[in-house]
Amino acid sequence: MRGAMIYAPGDIRFETLDDPKILNPTDAIIRTAVTCVCGSDLWPYRGTEPTDEPHPMGHEYVGFVEEVGSEVTSVKPGEFVVGSFATSDNTCPNCRNGFQSNCLHREFMSTCQADYVRIPHAHGTLVATDEVPGEELWPGLLAVSDVMGTGWWAADAAEVRPGSTVVVVGDGAVGLCAVIAAKEMGAERIIAMSRHESRQKLAREFGATDIVAERGEEGVEKIKELTGGIGADSVLECVGTAQSMQQALHSARPGGNVGFVGVPHGVAVDGQELFFSHVGLRGGPAPVRRYLPNLIERVLTGAIDPGRVFDLTLPLDQVADGYKAMDERRAIKTLLKP
Ligand SMILES: [Zn+2]
Repeated sequence: MRGAMIYAPGDIRFETLDDPKILNPTDAIIRTAVTCVCGSDLWPYRGTEPTDEPHPMGHEYVGFVEEVGSEVTSVKPGEFVVGSFATSDNTCPNCRNGFQSNCLHREFMSTCQADYVRIPHAHGTLVATDEVPGEELWPGLLAVSDVMGTGWWAADAAEVRPGSTVVVVGDGAVGLCAVIAAKEMGAERIIAMSRHESRQKLAREFGATDIVAERGEEGVEKIKELTGGIGADSVLECVGTAQSMQQALHSARPGGNVGFVGVPHGVAVDGQELFFSHVGLRGGPAPVRRYLPNLIERVLTGAIDPGRVFDLTLPLDQVADGYKAMDERRAIKTLLKP
């Protein structure tokens, strides 16, 4: 088969690789329907995360089951499946508590920008649709496997409620999906922080009521102006930098909550400041598996269309161009078709 490998920052190669095989009786092999490049793939691409040796890339996938191990009974060959970037047995205590992305047997997917993918713990990780969905729905379902699930988690973690005032920090794919989530959860006011016109437009179409283009403390000032001087009920931090986290924490009202889902890089939280702010803070890798049935249903019924975050579609063999376009911010998110 063919797949993407990273060799060094900026060096993505599309190569012939060994076909994945069933290694454990709980594995499945899927044929990729569509896959994509994630904003977090840019961390190694930009050298923020080191690449010590060449390795495959990609953690988002939807596809067709090709083969299952002897212990996999929940999905069968031919079915269309959606999974999470983190595998889960869906039976351990952490899974039962709804934190499947902290499963005791968790593995992070990392080989998905390829024709075929091995899915560990397939029985607990994959959710099959009743029938094969139309191709036009594949991008939305692919978004559910990571960015939409993560945006939903941000809103859930920040306790968005009907009538809430919500701030979304970050206008990448996760931030835009967080706007969808806040809207679906009944937020009355959704303030998207974005400097990019095309992303502001999409945020508004997804349900944002206000746009704040300013950043840092200037952005916080704007949020305060829009919220009667006190800040927002819920702030969804979807970037992961020191500045975006500060912006999020300072935008929440006393007693409000910050959901942080951008993988932190260089983020430090001042305990004393947090203590006196009365702001609640929860984040981490999204428990996507918990949300899959709900989010798949919303996509299949057309209630949400997170597939719109893909604004560039390329054949899988042009994956390197997909990284480049996102690195140069010419694309929000690149969809890849095998
Ligand atoms: Zn588990």
